[in-house]
Amino acid sequence: MPSRKFVGAHTSASGGVFNAVANAQEIGARAFALFTKNQRQWVAKDLDTETIDKFKRALDDSGILPKHVLPHDSYLINLGHPESHKREKSINAFIDEVQRCEVLGLDKLNFHPGSHLKQIDEDECLDKIAEAMNITLDKTNGVSLVLENTAGQGSNLGWKFEHLAHIIDKVEDKSRVGICIDTCHMFTAGYDIRTKEVYDKTWDEFERIVGFNYLMGMHINDSKKELGTHVDRHDSIGKGFIGLDAFKYIMNDERMDDIPLILETIDSSIWKEEIELLYSLQV
Ligand code: ZN
Ligand code: MN
Ligand code: MN
Repeated sequence: MPSRKFVGAHTSASGGVFNAVANAQEIGARAFALFTKNQRQWVAKDLDTETIDKFKRALDDSGILPKHVLPHDSYLINLGHPESHKREKSINAFIDEVQRCEVLGLDKLNFHPGSHLKQIDEDECLDKIAEAMNITLDKTNGVSLVLENTAGQGSNLGWKFEHLAHIIDKVEDKSRVGICIDTCHMFTAGYDIRTKEVYDKTWDEFERIVGFNYLMGMHINDSKKELGTHVDRHDSIGKGFIGLDAFKYIMNDERMDDIPLILETIDSSIWKEEIELLYSLQV
């Protein structure tokens, strides 16, 4: 029986979004993530028909399903920005990102919730994020907005399950909101997964506060920093403070079936081996 796990990596789309598909195939990925535009710039030219066709054909030929592709938005976007004109700029860029997914035939966009920049309180910032999501959902179709948990570095929100639940609670169309759990962020946010006992405890808490019905993807990263440090430094699988056991639990946990499991580990030259390693953990 083929594995129910869909493991891949955040591959490079340099030279065109279709290249992300080829780069995924090269490492034996069954899923992948990509930026549909330069992640460090506000604006990009629209995707042209030729590029869109090439992407769709490449994806179709690869056998990777659109639901196992998890695009990531630009790092510049802050839907919780305390200053209204800057938040508006973020919302416009975010709508553009969702529309790029739409034209590529993809059904998810992964993003970091937002930061309060120490100018507004947490609840107000979380409300602003949900409001920005509602505005975006009104203006787009067919793409789910997938909130990523963060490490809680600086004033980034979304590191506590309660933050994610707060946002989901205020999103009107709950059929188009999802969660992506990044294991490195989860760990440095203070959620331990290193032994079966704490793994179960952490995910029980996730189920109680957020709910597995919202889990639409994961970022599979080890961590260069210790539990609860709130620092976002990924490491290769099994080489960081999380260690291999946690990834073994994930690879054998049916709650993570059929969703993209994406490596964002630091050494892309070993992604192929890391994917093989992860599959080898399945019993
Ligand atoms: Zn991310
Ligand atoms: Mn991530
Ligand atoms: Mn990270």
